[in-house]
Amino acid sequence: MKHSRVLLVDDDSALLEALPETVRLHMDGVEIDTCDSAREALERIEAIDYDAIVTDIKMPGMDGLALLLEIKERRPSTPTLLITGHGERDLAVRALRGGAYDFLQKPIDRNYFVASLERAIQLRGLDRRVEDQRQALERHARVLEHVGDGVFLVDVDGVIRLWNRSAERIMGLSEAAVLERRAGEAIPGWADVASLVPTWPTPGPAGGRGTVPLDIGGRELWISISGIEFSDGVVYAFRDVTDERRIDSLKDEFVATVSHEVRTPLSAIYGASMTLQRKDLEVGADDRARLVAVIASEADRLARIINEILLANHIDSGRLRMARERVDVTELAGGLVETLRMVAPESIRIEVAGSDGLPPIETDGDRLRQVLVNLLENAVKYSPDGGVVELRIDRKEAGVRFSVRDQGLGIPSSEYERIFDKFYRLDPHLTRGVGGTGLGLYICRELVRRLGGRISVSSETGRGSTFFVDLPVEPLPATGGETSEVPAASAV
Ligand code: ADP
Repeated sequence: MKHSRVLLVDDDSALLEALPETVRLHMDGVEIDTCDSAREALERIEAIDYDAIVTDIKMPGMDGLALLLEIKERRPSTPTLLITGHGERDLAVRALRGGAYDFLQKPIDRNYFVASLERAIQLRGLDRRVEDQRQALERHARVLEHVGDGVFLVDVDGVIRLWNRSAERIMGLSEAAVLERRAGEAIPGWADVASLVPTWPTPGPAGGRGTVPLDIGGRELWISISGIEFSDGVVYAFRDVTDERRIDSLKDEFVATVSHEVRTPLSAIYGASMTLQRKDLEVGADDRARLVAVIASEADRLARIINEILLANHIDSGRLRMARERVDVTELAGGLVETLRMVAPESIRIEVAGSDGLPPIETDGDRLRQVLVNLLENAVKYSPDGGVVELRIDRKEAGVRFSVRDQGLGIPSSEYERIFDKFYRLDPHLTRGVGGTGLGLYICRELVRRLGGRISVSSETGRGSTFFVDLPVEPLPATGGETSEVPAASAV
């Protein structure tokens, strides 16, 4: 038997000797302390957490019943046995009502005393183990508070008993809102998916996770989740995979669009070259020139798609370096618009405004050109019925603003943020008949960010859109050297 410690309180010196002797002879590993007054007993109880206390009920000064009350106050889980005189049944009943564990009637039956004390010590031992486990659980719960995964415990009745901070954060449901409630009612969508969540028994290795959707406040939340079964219920651990899933499905769409985007120029190139190769067909000089032009422009389109994909990858890998150089924006805008006029449909008028007299700025000219080309090409591409496309440059208090305006399809305001996401297309199934990879605006956003600026859009569906690029650049002096600090005398 494990070592245990018992306190015996009695003013009867005969019992103070006889009972410890009985314990020594009949019980293993039990140490017994004795004292002859309730006051002294209280001091000891204060200092030592006994496994059981045996006290006489009738003592001068504080009696056994009063002592019992004090013990219940200070050591509520220590079992207390009371010794009553012969025929004092009502006192014994009062003792039991007051929370005594058992009572021993004088003359004390030795066997009964030993058996009862043993049971009391065992009870206390169990109690201590439960307490230890409770504390261990509390420690675990405190650790769980800080893990990144959402964790919650659903007991055998389906009621949520634990809900950690990450669960609050990921699901947006506070502990107060879900604790002590049935999981099926507290977590929107849980009732539909609970049976799909893999749960694993303990002990044993945990297996895989499942991915299920929840419906939190009208927002679809995808979580990757698994459960571990305990005797008290199931502990679930989960994390938010909504973004990963969204990217995955966008990627699938991307592969479909890119295959389509690549196949169209490829078949044009193939068709044109096959025609040129045919021996049985007389191809006139004009037709020959037209077919060669098709091959050249479609090959160019292919190269641009591949470049877009490579550039997006390059951006994602974090390897992109930005240059800082003096850029003449008037020249840049003029050149861009001129090139675009050569390739755009005739029904679209392309204009440039506001750039006259603007001083040069310090930025990465190639990257800025790339952004504006993307925006201008989109403006042309998404203006199927023609109209005006305008590139404006304005000096702003905090830098320079480039605006690309069109009179095309327009963009619903709910999509203003998402159109800049990777692979995102308003119309992936080409119902509006305009192809693309969904990478253009993503590349624009990332490049502008690296130039230290901001890109945004405002639009009226069906009436056109305007994209804004704001660069926080100080315009440089119109003439002179690299910096304004160059002394006049040394300028050449
Ligand atoms: P894409 O290769 O599809 O053009 P982008 O990233 O350049 O990819 O644009 C993302 C989506 O934003 C486009 O699919 C289109 O739906 C929408 N969009 C971009 N520019 C315009 C515009 N000027 N007018 C209307 N919609 C546009």
